[in-house]
Amino acid sequence: MRFDILTIFPKIFQSYFDDSIIKRAQNKKLVTIKIHDLRDGAKDKHRATDDRPYGGGPGMVMKVEPIYNTLKKIGAVKSKKAASHRVILLTPQGNTLTQKTVKRLSKYKIITLICGRYEGFDERVRSLVDEQISIGDYVLTGGELPAMVVVDTLARFVPGVLGHDGSVKDESFSKSLQTLEYPQYTRPEIFRRKRVPPILLSGNHQLISEWRKKHQRTKHR
Ligand code: SAM
Repeated sequence: MRFDILTIFPKIFQSYFDDSIIKRAQNKKLVTIKIHDLRDGAKDKHRATDDRPYGGGPGMVMKVEPIYNTLKKIGAVKSKKAASHRVILLTPQGNTLTQKTVKRLSKYKIITLICGRYEGFDERVRSLVDEQISIGDYVLTGGELPAMVVVDTLARFVPGVLGHDGSVKDESFSKSLQTLEYPQYTRPEIFRRKRVPPILLSGNHQLISEWRKKHQRTKHR
């Protein structure tokens, strides 16, 4: 799976993507992540990616041209790109990301993510994208953290990325929004008088599986 991330702060991603599972996934060529500096898509001499809003109001707004130019450069313009390529705008006004959304998006080969800053985007940017995603009902300073969240959660669905491919099937939210993972334990068997449930030490897979089903937590919304 390939990710293209459009941002005015390319360096933010380095540390997160250069570690752990995402790093291994890139080394194994299961995942490719390309970061594109939106300033390279700005044609004026100041490489401006933002400007004052028409009609007045606080703050600055992300300009449409640098975003369009960058999408064009990477072959992500809506009318020209492949059906297996999804362009996503990260915005608090988007649909909230759920595990169901992640599963649906995991079918695409290329995901392009556009990170905003300041007071958001020129409204015409919305017409350049396939969908808009929010990572929750709160406002962050920029779209970079949401982009990392989307890449991280989608990478888990790429075959071979997790050590154990069954993991993603059994995870919280994979069956329904209410179903969370069962309790897990590892060594030691006793910690401050709290014991691991004996059934998990029994070696009886049938009983363990029944116990896990019974103890799955549920989320009340
Ligand atoms: N004034 C904007 C509004 O009320 O929607 C907030 C803009 S926010 C400070 C700057 C950028 O951060 C947004 O354009 C978006 O790309 C990103 N962002 C902030 N919160 C987000 C969220 N919950 N989900 C996804 N992206 C978010």
